[in-house]
Amino acid sequence: MEQIRKHESKVRGYSRSFPTTFTTAHGAIINDENHRQYIDFLAGAGALNYGHNNPFFKMKLMDYIDKNGITHGLDLATEAKEEFIRVFNQYILEPRELKYKMQFTGPTGTNAVEAAIKLAQISTGRNNIITFTNAYHGHSKGALRLTANEHYRKGLENELNQFTSFLPYYGYVEGGFDSADYLDQVLSDKGSGIDKPAAIILETIQGEGGVNVAPNEWLKKLRRITEKHGILMIVDDIQVGCGRTGKFFSFEEAGIYPDMVTLSKSISGYGLPMAILLMKPELDKWEPGQHTGTFRGNNLAFVTAAEAIIKYWKDDKFQDEIKEKSAKLFRILNIIKDENSDIITDVRGKGLIIAMEFIDAETASKVTREAFENGLIIETCGSEGNIIKFLPPLNIHHNYLNEGIKIFEQAIESIKE
Ligand code: PMP
Repeated sequence: MEQIRKHESKVRGYSRSFPTTFTTAHGAIINDENHRQYIDFLAGAGALNYGHNNPFFKMKLMDYIDKNGITHGLDLATEAKEEFIRVFNQYILEPRELKYKMQFTGPTGTNAVEAAIKLAQISTGRNNIITFTNAYHGHSKGALRLTANEHYRKGLENELNQFTSFLPYYGYVEGGFDSADYLDQVLSDKGSGIDKPAAIILETIQGEGGVNVAPNEWLKKLRRITEKHGILMIVDDIQVGCGRTGKFFSFEEAGIYPDMVTLSKSISGYGLPMAILLMKPELDKWEPGQHTGTFRGNNLAFVTAAEAIIKYWKDDKFQDEIKEKSAKLFRILNIIKDENSDIITDVRGKGLIIAMEFIDAETASKVTREAFENGLIIETCGSEGNIIKFLPPLNIHHNYLNEGIKIFEQAIESIKE
């Protein structure tokens, strides 16, 4: 660990606090160099919805490599890419009556966000993008413009504040102020000469920002208002898409049809880099080759991504499984909260992204450290670091879910001693 500290810069955020070197992983379990086993409630910050080394995807991948399947093909049409597009259309888009075109962007979520905002600006001829307090959309300068976090923006504010307007996110509004109504009023004020924004971008649940859940009614209202004023709605489903909320897309329950959707993290199913921008076909105003990149379209990721959809999204079984685990986790976490109301102030979330809010960051990090000591990996989030985020793999076995909760409960008890 000391070696890592010496050679790696402070830039890394996640998991630095875990003082060991990890070696292997399987399902919801990670092992370390000392042959200790940890239950993983971080799941690659949402990149491992189907667990580590999912055996179904691993088999497909090994088979593909064994057959000398194409790994890197730039923009060549490949069998793996065509198969992914076919299953994504057949099992994800068509049953939901979503008619998106898809674009493979550079390999990370941030790249998909960049593509979305560029396309919003190109296709509308307008510049301004509206985003929300506590939003997280990535670290490149375009995506960081839309990310509301002082720590990440520090020193770059002058540049980042261009063409960006922030509104309070629903979960942070108190006293009846509604930022969707506010937006409607501002844009309806014809004489003011206010520049119409190109787009609004939002997470339906703010993952990094503290698991703030936007109610379905508010999402519906925002969709109505954006349609009324001709503003594009981009849903960033990078963290809470791919089943995290219990449905494949996080906006399904709200019954809205965003103009663009970004996906990454768990889309490949295997922790392999892959990112997609979904867009309504009429928005595809790119010139050929206008938005490109060497690693857009990772064929190994296409193989595992197609398999993930076939394995988990052909019918409702997996969704029912998530619902059941979610109900269990909520029930137990609420009991823990009620028994520890002196240090725990809230439990919230949806599906298998659930937050427990603590009175302060120090208490929250004491709990995560104690949990780690006893075999559970779980992280804090939110701008104040006082929120512990439960993000287990969606296919976690009930025994590991129970065991993880038990370790967490014991961690709370021991920090109170
Ligand atoms: N958007 C959201 C909602 C995210 O949670 C993240 C990553 N935490 C990103 C964008 C950026 O993705 P990446 O780190 O893969 O670039």
